[in-house]
Amino acid sequence: MANLFLGIDLGGTLIKFALLDDTLTPIGHLELDTPVQKGADEVIDTMICGARELIHQQGVALSNLSGIGVASPGPIDFETGTVIAMPNIPGFNNVPLRNRIADALGVETILENDANAAAMGEALCGAGKNADILIMLTLGTGVGSGIIINGKILRGCHSAGAETGHMIVEPNGEPCPCGQRGCLERYSSAASVAQYARRLIEKEGRQSTLSEILRKNGNIDAAQINQAQIDGDELAKEVWDRAMYFLAIGCINLARLFDPEVIILGGGMAKAGENLINPLRRHFNKLHWILTEPKTSLVLSALGSKAGVIGAAGVAWKTFRK
Ligand SMILES: [Zn+2]
Repeated sequence: MANLFLGIDLGGTLIKFALLDDTLTPIGHLELDTPVQKGADEVIDTMICGARELIHQQGVALSNLSGIGVASPGPIDFETGTVIAMPNIPGFNNVPLRNRIADALGVETILENDANAAAMGEALCGAGKNADILIMLTLGTGVGSGIIINGKILRGCHSAGAETGHMIVEPNGEPCPCGQRGCLERYSSAASVAQYARRLIEKEGRQSTLSEILRKNGNIDAAQINQAQIDGDELAKEVWDRAMYFLAIGCINLARLFDPEVIILGGGMAKAGENLINPLRRHFNKLHWILTEPKTSLVLSALGSKAGVIGAAGVAWKTFRK
């Protein structure tokens, strides 16, 4: 079997691998723990070993690969295939990741930002099939995003395009590690929702069923806040709704700029399913101008946690297929 494409998605917890054939049908998957504490070299070795392992498992050879796509967090120099910085993994500064993988495996390789890869995954195989313009927002530690226009990833002129998580949605709002205030990801990421709930409980002494979880575990997460709001907790409802309101502001601004077919929501918070998409649509429709009817669809990711790795293979498919 020839013309296979391998995707590798480097995450802070897991490294995911997917093997796709030339019709973009997945034929094998593998996941390995990311050896974060052991540093960059060990992480890259794990990526190389995992690639070999999956190929072996599927009974094919490296020579059957037409290309490898690697999805990575952090700012990337696309020209040289270098990861410029990755705060979570020690030593991952100015690492020529593309060439390290390509040289070790002897297969042409392309490096892509993980949020862009996830958007490409949804565009090729998921909730954005056949859309001329699609935007994907990944709600996790931050808000990652990818914008695909007529099959191409929007990078901008300085490789800094589609940073939707740092659109300012509240002037003089919450401080963001990027140096601005009021960025979307300070309101609508899984991490910021948990931080806000915690602040209301600890600093403002608000009553909530979440205080008990906080006291027991030392922290709370977005999934617990979603569960608490389902169970009728007023503070959880308020925190969740605020996140959905600011997310809707972000989506409205994106709709005004790009008029996309679809905005796709993924990442950890999207596991809330209807509890994410319904309030988001409600706020979006309320904020929508009256000049035209809302036509952009807001939908959940179809590929879930595999969007990035499928997209990484998809980027390789787009780049190297003969
Ligand atoms: Zn920011």
